[in-house]
Amino acid sequence: MKLTNRLGLPQPIVDAATCDHEYTPKRYSVTQMLKGPREAILARRHSDEIESDVADMAWTIFGSSMHLLLEQSQESATQLKENYVTAEMPNGYVLSGIFDLYDDATGTVTDYKSATVWKVIFGDWDDYREQLLSYVWMLRRIGFDARRGEIVAILKDHSKAKAKFESNYPEHPFYVIGWDFSDEELAEFGERVEAKFREIERCEALPDDELPLCTPKERWAKPDTWAVMKQGNKKSSKNFDNEQDAVRYAARLQEDTGRKCHVEHRPGRDQKCLEYCDCRPFCNYGRALEV
Ligand code: SF4
Repeated sequence: MKLTNRLGLPQPIVDAATCDHEYTPKRYSVTQMLKGPREAILARRHSDEIESDVADMAWTIFGSSMHLLLEQSQESATQLKENYVTAEMPNGYVLSGIFDLYDDATGTVTDYKSATVWKVIFGDWDDYREQLLSYVWMLRRIGFDARRGEIVAILKDHSKAKAKFESNYPEHPFYVIGWDFSDEELAEFGERVEAKFREIERCEALPDDELPLCTPKERWAKPDTWAVMKQGNKKSSKNFDNEQDAVRYAARLQEDTGRKCHVEHRPGRDQKCLEYCDCRPFCNYGRALEV
């Protein structure tokens, strides 16, 4: 990765943002494997060209320092912390991962995450849950009785004032959530991960522009919506995922209320492509998106 420092931040901050990670052929970490093959493969192929600015890496540095602090604690007799685990796939590829803490007394893998309060408000845990499932699955393959995953999230944008007055707002800047994984779910995950590595192997032979497009979920795609607006109102009365239903509703609302109504088209957005994907300069789909 090419690191730039447009704000001229001090060297210790630049050093903290510097990552000398090198990709190993046929070896994918859990976080790389869980991405769409297009993003995962573009990130490897273009690792020397991908540019990041130190000024945009504050939360990466925050996350790393949080891990550094937490890993200094002394684990108990049943705990393992920051352990590197791997699982070999039938096609010769390797899945690797480092979990933050495993407690054999409870069979629980714990991962520390820095997150925003929106994760809690929207209950948006699918990515973290899948990561924990991967660690539990890998630990079981090497003989541990792992069966539960837990996230300890530090909510970096938590506001005490909002916590007092908003009912769905997390009470504290720490938030803990966990899941028990059944044998069936773990077996199904094993099949899924092997299929994913077969797909990665197939995709590695493709040129950049022919890599399968990231799914709407992987692109954090927000679909087009059609908002029914009452004249003079700033907020929509109701939103629809298609124009016909919106037009019908607007006509009915106008008739019922006697107020003029119209339909406003709000185009969808691939939020990850536009704001968070380092591979965008190398992705023909991402490059074609209008900001
Ligand atoms: S820019 Fe979008 S489509 Fe392209 S790799 Fe990134 S997330 Fe996927």
